[in-house]
Amino acid sequence: MARAARKPSRARMREQLLAEAAAIALPDAVDVCVCGGGAAGLAAAIAAAEAGAAVLVLERGLRCGESILATGNGRCNLSNRALAPEAFNDPDFVRAAFGSFGCENILAFFAQCGLATICENGRIYPASNQAASVREVLLARARRGRVIFGCARELEGIEGGTIAFRELFSEERHTLAAGAVVLACREGYLPDGLAAAPFTPALCPIAAEGLPFKELDGRRVHARAALMRRGVPVLQEEGEVLFRSYGLSGIVIFDLSRAACPGDTIELDLAPALDDALFFELTERAGSARGIIDPSIVDVMGSAKHLSCTVTGLAQTEHAQVRRGGLATAQFDPATLMAYGKPGLFAAGEVLDIDGPCGGYNLSWAWRSGQIAGTAAAAFARARA
Ligand SMILES: Cc1cc2nc3c(=O)[nH]c(=O)nc-3n(C[C@H](O)[C@H](O)[C@H](O)COP(=O)(O)OP(=O)(O)OC[C@H]3O[C@@H](n4cnc5c(N)ncnc54)[C@H](O)[C@@H]3O)c2cc1C
Repeated sequence: MARAARKPSRARMREQLLAEAAAIALPDAVDVCVCGGGAAGLAAAIAAAEAGAAVLVLERGLRCGESILATGNGRCNLSNRALAPEAFNDPDFVRAAFGSFGCENILAFFAQCGLATICENGRIYPASNQAASVREVLLARARRGRVIFGCARELEGIEGGTIAFRELFSEERHTLAAGAVVLACREGYLPDGLAAAPFTPALCPIAAEGLPFKELDGRRVHARAALMRRGVPVLQEEGEVLFRSYGLSGIVIFDLSRAACPGDTIELDLAPALDDALFFELTERAGSARGIIDPSIVDVMGSAKHLSCTVTGLAQTEHAQVRRGGLATAQFDPATLMAYGKPGLFAAGEVLDIDGPCGGYNLSWAWRSGQIAGTAAAAFARARA
């Protein structure tokens, strides 16, 4: 019987990818250098290449598009039918950048890439249910545009049109010339001379006290969750809430985490589809709420419809889906995403101080801002040449 092929070890795989990266010779000069080959960087590279520019992506990881693989629990929630500027932290800037652009345009872009998509409750996913499909169609389209992927190379400095970077495989430092630069490396590099808000985690679980969280750990409930500050509602969301030993998790809670501060309270309605009168009627009939709420939650909390706990902070911040903060948007023209004081320097994705809720908003921003910056960078480089 033939022996099954052994999967290469992580170390071997890394060695192989480093060798592949080292084998790519970079040019001394390009029209557009995109720094960061994640979601926004790939969208920018495709846009710039399709506008006729010679494009290089400088990526510190061993492969481009790796950040996309972890999104949407490996399924990549790439956009949302309800995409609207109002959902973002800086609606005016996003509105000015988006113009009439919406979810339909993102679907059209991915259809042109050859990606089939599905919609679940307004959220768009690849039909394959695999984030790898999104990554691969983007890489294929970029390759068709002759984009060069300079992986395992870390951006260290930008001085006018000169890019300084370090090769991870040789530890050597080099420079190259670019007609325009698109910065798309999230918090990985911030240029001198531009104001930036500190990066802080957002879209993550919330640590809380006031409920027996250790006993509730792992239980899920469909609930309405309201974030309250001094008795006033700040945000309200409905969906699955997951009890954890330290507090609360789940997409609904991630969204509340964008605004949650220590001392706020979270009020949970464990049966939002029922008004209180019907809830109590059914509870009386059954002798408990076990016919309405997961009995294992009733075991711990009794037949309560409403629960309340106090926020003590954010939890598991290392796994936060977005970083709030980044380059202040007032320094950028929303029509081109070029920095006003730095001609030829463009920015896209999370490096700009833009963040949205869960549900495909952040990737939508990454795609659209990448397209704007890439197209404008190509035009700038052409005009400069
Ligand atoms: C676990 C998780 C799940 C998520 N799920 C979703 C989801 O389902 N839907 C959604 O809309 N959003 C989701 N997000 C958010 C979304 O992934 C980000 O908003 C989006 O990827 C931001 O795009 P970006 O290009 O700015 O950053 P990234 O995609 O992170 O790309 C940045 C790239 O820059 C590279 N880089 C960094 N520093 C340097 C440097 N100095 N030199 C060269 N390269 C560098 C990095 O290696 C990386 O490849 C999720 C995030 C996480 C962490």
